[in-house]
Amino acid sequence: MDKRINLEKECMRCQGAGKIDGKTCAACEGKGTVLTEEGKKILEYLRNSIRLSEH
Ligand SMILES: [Zn+2]
Repeated sequence: MDKRINLEKECMRCQGAGKIDGKTCAACEGKGTVLTEEGKKILEYLRNSIRLSEH
């Protein structure tokens, strides 16, 4: 199994630093990484299943 899904990628705005000019990067909220499209889909899916199980 060498197929790997990347859920996160380096933030383009701060280049993975998490900060721009000493301020927290708004794009990644200081994490230095942002979710990929694939990551967003999976997160959305997980959120939905959590919501369902709460009932
Ligand atoms: Zn950033």
